[in-house]
Amino acid sequence: MLTILYRGPLASCDYDCSYCPFAKRRDTPEQLRADRAALERFAGWVAAQESEVSVLFTPWGEGLVRSWYRRALVELSWLPNVARVAIQTNLSCRTGWLAEASDRAALWVTYHPTQVPYERLLGKLRTLPVRHSVGIVGDPAHLPDARRLRADLPRETYLWVNAEEGRRYTDAEAAEWSRIDPLFRHSRFAHPSAGLPCRTGDSVISVSGDGTVRRCHFVPEVLGNLYDGSYREALRPRPCPATACDCHIGYVHLEPLGLYDVFTGGILERIPAAWPGT
Ligand code: SF4
Ligand code: SF4
Repeated sequence: MLTILYRGPLASCDYDCSYCPFAKRRDTPEQLRADRAALERFAGWVAAQESEVSVLFTPWGEGLVRSWYRRALVELSWLPNVARVAIQTNLSCRTGWLAEASDRAALWVTYHPTQVPYERLLGKLRTLPVRHSVGIVGDPAHLPDARRLRADLPRETYLWVNAEEGRRYTDAEAAEWSRIDPLFRHSRFAHPSAGLPCRTGDSVISVSGDGTVRRCHFVPEVLGNLYDGSYREALRPRPCPATACDCHIGYVHLEPLGLYDVFTGGILERIPAAWPGT
């Protein structure tokens, strides 16, 4: 099975988080049209494949406020060759349309406490008709929000915590976050990865809107293009050329970490296999 991390040109978001890692912009109508065309081309390519494909949409901004991402999630979820289709989202969109998706659709939801009333998000999460994880950035100011959300969510919903970019946690601080997310230890430190085997570039690829294929979002070397098939001959097991990997969508594929065993069946949407018994 080929796993694809897709990131089109969309770069606008309806939220304005202070810690946003993305270079957000206001997309012009032309840029939105280009993003839509790129996504529809990609969805058409997925539909034409005979082999099994899993997809995680990782937009620079918020995708689900755009009709074409909602439609792609629903339509891809019904394709016989799609094992899983998931998207990272702030869940600001309405959610009723998700009832049209198959059980192969999933959401990676992030809660941004400064951007959304707590009760509004909780109400959506409690009625979501598709598989999902929910997460929060481990900013100390968010700790009460994270504790409250963990207490209010159903036990079977996994709440992950991402270490805040550039923050070093004392053991006592890490213990607090680990009480909310028992897997916080995987996010706390960047993982040294140089020379280590990583599934990206072999069974996992990153694809941009024009079809450019790279092994992951973090290594700039181009392996080929999706649409002319030139990426195929470049696929093979290969070591990581970067010093470290600090983002879950990357290091989950880093073989020595063994996270495919932890997240079996939920790698893309970040749901541990044994949850809630983890
Ligand atoms: S919701 Fe995500 S993309 Fe939007 S501003 Fe917040 S961190 Fe950035
Ligand atoms: S370990 Fe991370 S940076 Fe290195 S190749 Fe894998 S996903 Fe990319």
